[in-house]
Amino acid sequence: MDLAASGAFEDLQLAAEDWASANGLLVRREGGFQTCPITLIPSIFPRQTYEEAIALQPIFNRLVDRVSRDLSWLYKELEATGAGDDFIQAQLEICKQVHGAQARGKNEKFQTTYLGCNRSDYMIHCAPETEKDVPILPAASGTPQGSFLQVELNTIASSFGSLSTQTSALHKFLCTRHRDSVESAYAKLGLNIPPLTPENLPETNTVNVLCQGMAEAFKHYQMQRGTDCVVRMLYIIFVVSDGEKNSVDQRMLEYELWNTHQIPVLRHSLTTLATNATIENRGGAPVLFVDGGTKEIAVVYYRDGYSPDAYPTKKEWDARLLMEKSYAIKCPSITYQLVGAKKIQQALAGEGVLEKYLSATDAIAIRKSFAGLYELTDEAVAAAMAHPEHFVLKPQREGGGNNVYGEDITKVLPSLSTTERAAYILMQRIFPPGQDSLLLLRGGLLMPCKALSELGVYGAFLGDEEEEHLNLTGGHLLRTKPDSSDEGGVAAGFAVIDSPCLL
Ligand code: ADP
Ligand code: MG
Repeated sequence: MDLAASGAFEDLQLAAEDWASANGLLVRREGGFQTCPITLIPSIFPRQTYEEAIALQPIFNRLVDRVSRDLSWLYKELEATGAGDDFIQAQLEICKQVHGAQARGKNEKFQTTYLGCNRSDYMIHCAPETEKDVPILPAASGTPQGSFLQVELNTIASSFGSLSTQTSALHKFLCTRHRDSVESAYAKLGLNIPPLTPENLPETNTVNVLCQGMAEAFKHYQMQRGTDCVVRMLYIIFVVSDGEKNSVDQRMLEYELWNTHQIPVLRHSLTTLATNATIENRGGAPVLFVDGGTKEIAVVYYRDGYSPDAYPTKKEWDARLLMEKSYAIKCPSITYQLVGAKKIQQALAGEGVLEKYLSATDAIAIRKSFAGLYELTDEAVAAAMAHPEHFVLKPQREGGGNNVYGEDITKVLPSLSTTERAAYILMQRIFPPGQDSLLLLRGGLLMPCKALSELGVYGAFLGDEEEEHLNLTGGHLLRTKPDSSDEGGVAAGFAVIDSPCLL
């Protein structure tokens, strides 16, 4: 079908693009902005899966916090991985410098409250017949898998909370105001749809929830500092990359923090912080300042720092260490970031591990969402060499475009030394169902294609060793990509933002 060329969706596309401009559903490009890559109409998604995935989020939030405080387990699990991966090693070194016995000055206050702005990503799994032939599947623990499986858990720079909220709002507008055009678009794709009613088009509250988390952390810091700090002079820092393309997504959080909570945000890159950030002792606390010691920082929110390119020189690592040592509340702490490593995802799937951190009921609930996750033992490597189509080979990287799929796995695996093997995990390949979709790509190109979707669920968490101050579930992010693409990131250019029409 050449539906795009026939101009079949021209009116709808125009309505969508104008709405996107008017409501900030935009990404930066050279010299300006363009419509965020989106689907023109929502994808049909099973309600039960949606509701189950939403319900898991507070458990994952709690799990991240509990595991982050079990440093000896984290160090043990990441030791070999660090030896094979410099980036993990550098994070471990920061962690050890901050948490080591000698690291804390005598009587110096130490920040043990962490803020999590997490996102857990899932795909529905339709097991192909041939999966039965793969000897080490499914998950090693033997617990039966549910109908959807976790792709990964993001603990740093979980993005698109704002643009996914806007995409849901756009789709709701199109499905009500332009209902006839939307229904005719589904009909042209040959899709039977549920009624386009508000209860089938769930709204997202992600911006509110992430900002509630940041505001709560801000207030908590204010309370901790007591009369020592001048309230007027406190800020949240967004750590962002120079030339950030996804700035609108970040700015919407900044505006919500100001409009609803009267909290000012500063934006800095790790490179500028290397010369701009300082620590000064105030009332026994190592307080973080920027701009010549004039602005006190209550919360550091990282939207960068998750990949090696954020640290081109030692200066950026020094800035990270400085902030980590400071009394500001970090989102995430270096420990939360390490818990988000793919190696830890694999380690948590091991027999009896979840039960150390969660109630038996909670452990069962989230284990059902675990795909088969494997260390690169000889047995796992042999299985992946024999059936590469059933595995994904993953290094310890974030941001899309790093994984190895299919036949490429059989080329990479034999080339790895024992040390290098520890830097990867093998994961059961998830096979989500295909659905015809209309992708609106950068530059306004409309692409009808068979597509695959990934559901993300946001959460915000604030806790310390004694108490959970806040544990919230945010809204959804549905990302959809052509079924010909293995990878799925929006920023990386593989996928677009979608929203679910619940069936
Ligand atoms: P990143 O940290 O780079 O986002 P992910 O683990 O999320 O790494 O993988 C990137 C993309 O690769 C996902 O969005 C998804 O589309 C695809 N992918 C990852 N793991 C699997 C898997 N086990 N089965 C199928 N596709 C996967
Ligand atoms: Mg991902």
